[in-house]
Amino acid sequence: MRRVYLDNNATTPVLPEVFEAMRPYFAEHFGNASSIHHHGQETRAAVERARESVAALVGANAAEIVFTGGGTEADNLAVFGVTRPGDHIITSAIEHHAVLNACRHLEEMGCLVTYLPVEGRGVVDPADVRRAVLPNTRLISIMLANNETGMVQPVAEIGKIAAEAGVYFHTDAVQAAGKIPVRVEEIGCDLLSISAHKVHGPQGVGALYVRKGTALEARQYGGRHERSRRAGTENVPGIVGLGKAAELAHAGLERGDDLKMAALRDQLETQLLEIEACGVNGSRASRVPNTTNIYFEGIDGEALVIALDLKGLAVSTGAACSSGAIEPSHVLLAMGLTPERARASIRFSLGKQNTAEDVEFALSVVPETVARLRELSPVWRRASSLESRASSV
Ligand code: PLP
Repeated sequence: MRRVYLDNNATTPVLPEVFEAMRPYFAEHFGNASSIHHHGQETRAAVERARESVAALVGANAAEIVFTGGGTEADNLAVFGVTRPGDHIITSAIEHHAVLNACRHLEEMGCLVTYLPVEGRGVVDPADVRRAVLPNTRLISIMLANNETGMVQPVAEIGKIAAEAGVYFHTDAVQAAGKIPVRVEEIGCDLLSISAHKVHGPQGVGALYVRKGTALEARQYGGRHERSRRAGTENVPGIVGLGKAAELAHAGLERGDDLKMAALRDQLETQLLEIEACGVNGSRASRVPNTTNIYFEGIDGEALVIALDLKGLAVSTGAACSSGAIEPSHVLLAMGLTPERARASIRFSLGKQNTAEDVEFALSVVPETVARLRELSPVWRRASSLESRASSV
């Protein structure tokens, strides 16, 4: 059966070049990067080369990059690393749970957290950030691009506000780095999170950019790895994979791969929008190039994901499963969608491996599946019979 994967915001396949770069570091070059003998020197050199590539992707200095066990760990290191009980933190209602749940824990530790709302397009208003700053505000954490809608946040404006207020600024760039140009100086952030597996690198490895001079306290204790900012033997194959993925993403951005990706996404989106009673969540402008989030009235998103999977198309809902109950996406609810519309929403996210044929395949299965599910949907049937009655009077 043909399978097309359009769920690249969940994870991406490792590119062959990335896999080849990693391969020697499992068995042939196995040294502990902290060992002083030949084997250690070999892997240390590979780790430092990867650090240079990751730094280059975001316009940082290599010494400002700390390798972590993924995006979640980078977010946690940033949020807990600069805050103390009694501090005030500003974040938004649409952050990934890696930030949101870290902030909820900070509240339990005696911090005050402001969760800013977003407007209908799913964007934080910098004026709200400015208004929320208190004398004891220590950190502002606002993501660069949202994982569900792809909407890019006004981080450069927020960075200016943070700098003026003398407050640390963290941005979760997990869904942005490698997809759009990201420069830490332009953003004015002190901390920025990256994850390898969202840009065709391996799962379980990421990085935190820590601006020189940031008073970051380590979250885990052990050896003096990563300049005492993240204890634990480095995941050398993973770090090499992240470095290669960063290098390829950087080269791709310079070639304009993001524009090609956006063209493919737009082709998919434009034709999906021809389906009756559907629309884009967010706005068609200011998004990362690979993402579109669409609601289909009268549909249960989970049912659509399962029905499409049976036809070979992998997409996702933004819904989270908590204690067996499907909760509508907190991001879509924060944007003002009703729970029904949030539950009727699907995220399509493209990756470097996707082709025009993949988009055609998606377009050959989505409209008919939506139509079939609507025929079975009492909500949809009720709504359409009301409409036809209304039009006949
Ligand atoms: N932040 C964002 C915006 C994400 O989309 C994700 C992953 O879905 C994460 C953080 C967590 O990254 P990881 O899966 O590497 O822990």
